Amino acid sequence: MNIPYLDLSKIHKPMQQELDEAYRAVTANEWYIQGEYCDKFEQEFAAYCGVQECIGVGNGLDALRLIFMGMGIGAGDEVIVPAHTFIATVLAVSYVGAVPVLVDVDSDTYLIDADKIESHITERTKAVVAVHLYGRLCDMDAVCRIAKKHGLYVIEDAAQAHGAKANGKMAGSFGDAAGFSFYPGKNLGALGDGGAVTTNNGELAKKIRALANYGAFQRYHHIYQGCNSRLDELQAAFLLKKLPYLKGWNEERRRIAEKYLTGIKSNQIVLPEINTENPEEHVFHIFPVLCQRRDRLQEFLKRKGIGTNIHYPIPIPKQGAYEAWGWDMAEFSATEKICAQELSLPLYPGMNDAEIEYVIDSVNTF
Ligand SMILES: *Cc1c(COP(=O)(O)O)cnc(C)c1O
Repeated sequence: MNIPYLDLSKIHKPMQQELDEAYRAVTANEWYIQGEYCDKFEQEFAAYCGVQECIGVGNGLDALRLIFMGMGIGAGDEVIVPAHTFIATVLAVSYVGAVPVLVDVDSDTYLIDADKIESHITERTKAVVAVHLYGRLCDMDAVCRIAKKHGLYVIEDAAQAHGAKANGKMAGSFGDAAGFSFYPGKNLGALGDGGAVTTNNGELAKKIRALANYGAFQRYHHIYQGCNSRLDELQAAFLLKKLPYLKGWNEERRRIAEKYLTGIKSNQIVLPEINTENPEEHVFHIFPVLCQRRDRLQEFLKRKGIGTNIHYPIPIPKQGAYEAWGWDMAEFSATEKICAQELSLPLYPGMNDAEIEYVIDSVNTF
């Protein structure tokens, strides 16, 4: 059997006609940037997330750096970020000239360890970024409580967590602002690059909208040194067709994850922890297992025709871009362990039972 790590055709083939319609509608308009489809998507995605404002932008990295720019975070400021995340979270901080302060993650949830945040706060700290990594919500009560106590902004990196939900609140609605990515492989993906900022702060939304559009509220009147980062009409039209399916796709992801969690029985594998009281807090963008012989497991599964991925193989403090900053690696033991042992199993809407069973059996025979 051949099971790729991700097969987007399982998502796109059944809705081919709708995607074709979206393409035809936009090309019939001959209007490609800042038009009705982006407006409509922003409204629908804001409603989906339960927030007042959504600004479509070019990608997830831009969503985060535009949030920092909008908040006036830059040179001389520090921003607390988890040490285990996709590089974009950290790049967004250094991009605006601020200093990323890395905090190790919890060894069970793989999310920022809220107990370690306070000891990293200084008088220069302006914000904490909560990354809902692998699709699981951070402990937002704890993060928001600490941020409030110290007068810090809370920014969610929700690039892997569209639709994750806790206590009736959606990812993207807990902090002062959130960044989303619509990279094709994300839980809600465009057919190219795309991203969004969500917030309940109308002033901030207005400023970010201007910053993303050459720093202008009014054409040719440039108030800020902005940039060009916009969600184009084609991507917005595709996303509008896909958004109604997101809930069902996330439920399917959870069903597959449950099968993995009950089916995989191996003393060599550490399965991801889940909160059984609130299963909706996880949308399983990724199904991460830990294995001490990770590379062997990956090779073994490859020979069985199963595609896997590693999220992420190199800790951020050891990345070339940041290694000169002089990190004390003893601070990042959980991050180092995950990077050394993590393997992501295939998990996407449209996987059938035989494929899921085959992955389970293959892992169990390793
Ligand atoms: C994908 C991702 C991003 C960046 O999104 P792009 O659209 O690729 O720029 C940021 N943070 C996390 C956690 C991601 O997974």
